[in-house]
Amino acid sequence: MGMSGRTALVTGATAGIGRVVAMQLAREGAHVVVHGRDAERGATVVKEIQAVGGTAQFVQADLADAEDVQRLADVAGDVDVLVNNAGIYKFLPTKDMSADLFDLHMDLNTKAPYLLVRALAPGMAERGHGSIVNISTLAAAVPTAGTGMYAASKAALEQLTQVWAAEYAKDGVRVNTVAPGPTRTPGTDAMDPATLQAVADTTAMRRIAEPEEVAEAVVFLASDRASYITGALLEVAGGRPAIGG
Ligand code: NAP
Repeated sequence: MGMSGRTALVTGATAGIGRVVAMQLAREGAHVVVHGRDAERGATVVKEIQAVGGTAQFVQADLADAEDVQRLADVAGDVDVLVNNAGIYKFLPTKDMSADLFDLHMDLNTKAPYLLVRALAPGMAERGHGSIVNISTLAAAVPTAGTGMYAASKAALEQLTQVWAAEYAKDGVRVNTVAPGPTRTPGTDAMDPATLQAVADTTAMRRIAEPEEVAEAVVFLASDRASYITGALLEVAGGRPAIGG
């Protein structure tokens, strides 16, 4: 129970990768602030955590709204671990992307993590410890037609991660990135299965990940087991093709 006495805020914990991260952090002993928009699914995750002996609370907020992001930070209070997981991904050629969709990617994938770090990292620094894990994507490192807006919003997050690592290292706050490859979640279940498998085929392992496999890496970086790791990017993506041959 390496995280007992710690509080962890996981954004987008009502589904997919975030839900499993929340469960695994709770199993490690952390009190988990489960964030999302869907109150019913939020209550279910809280119950699932309580059923395995953990503690959790649900906080509803729309991260596309800067005021709601601030309210989430205020309600979450003194968190020791922040996992910036909530995100959206739409894959379309640039000519078919609307300005509104551009704003939504930036607001959710880049600006909301920025505002949460701005609000919560100073408290971590004051207390002398904290760990922030930002969820990016393999797509940020592999330029692919149709992924532009999503990849750009996450590449910005990766850059910010390194800036924050530099800003907060002296205060005992570590900031790292996990970059998953294609992972089975409600979000990807809504995609054309052939498209998702085509992405998986670009990895050395040629398979889609389970969210548990991504969550293991997130929880490791969030924990003291990663005490000398900051500013790192951990790909959980089945290997680049050059590795698998
Ligand atoms: P998902 O199944 O679509 O779940 C998304 C989560 O984000 C839900 O909990 C959702 O909450 C929350 N969310 C979405 N829009 C929100 C908003 N406006 N305000 C607040 N919360 C919002 O996603 P996922 O596939 O698990 O992906 C999680 C993260 O991993 C994302 O950052 C994604 O970019 C990244 N990633 C995923 C994959 C993959 O293949 N799945 C690969 C690489 C990276 P509600 O439903 O309650 O609103």
